[in-house]
Amino acid sequence: MKVAVFPGSFDPLTLGHLDLIKRGSALFDQLAVAVMTNVNKEPLFTVDERVAQIKEAVAGLDNVTVITTSGLTVDLMNRIGADYLMRGLRNTTDFQYERDIAAMNNFLDDQCETVFFLAKPEYQHLSSTILKEVTSSGGDISAYLPANINEALKKRLAEKKMLQVKEHNEEAR
Ligand code: ADP
Repeated sequence: MKVAVFPGSFDPLTLGHLDLIKRGSALFDQLAVAVMTNVNKEPLFTVDERVAQIKEAVAGLDNVTVITTSGLTVDLMNRIGADYLMRGLRNTTDFQYERDIAAMNNFLDDQCETVFFLAKPEYQHLSSTILKEVTSSGGDISAYLPANINEALKKRLAEKKMLQVKEHNEEAR
C-alpha cells in the first residue's frame, strides 16, 4: 500500500494546495495532509483552525486524512507508515529550497522518497502569503480559495484590524 504525507503550513490552504491534494489522492492509496507548525512563520490561523478548514475542503476525498504534527517529517512518516513525502513546485525558488529539504530528509531516513508535483499553470503564482496580502488590501481572491477559507480569511483579517477598506485615492490638490 502506498502511503504518502503532504506536510505544509497551509496558512491558509489555497486552491493550489487543494489541486495537489486531489492529484496525490489519485496517485497514492492513502494521503495524510499534515499541518506543521513552522517556527519561522507567525500563523494567522491556529493549527486546529487550519485542520478544520482543510477537513471541510477535502470532504469527499475518502483516502485523505488531515493530521497535525510538530518535529521531523521523517518521524511522522515512520509513525504512520508513510514511504512518500509529497511537495509542490511552483518555480525555481521552490525547486532549490525543496531539493535541499528532500536531500536532508533522505539523509535523516534513506527510506524517505520525496515526490514532487508541478503546480498547475493557473496556480503557479499563488502563495498563502500573497493571498493574505491581497485580501488585507481589499482585493477579491475568492477564485483562489475554497469558499469556507475565503470567508474565514476575511473574518480573521477584520478581527485583527488588518482588513483595509477600499479607498478612492485622490490626487493631492
Ligand atoms: P511550507 O511552509 O511547508 O512551505 P506551504 O503551505 O507554504 O508550507 O506549502 C506547502 C507545499 O505546497 C510546498 O511544497 C509548496 O511548494 C506547495 N505549494 C504552495 N502553494 C502551491 C501552489 N499554488 N501550487 C502548488 N504547490 C503549492
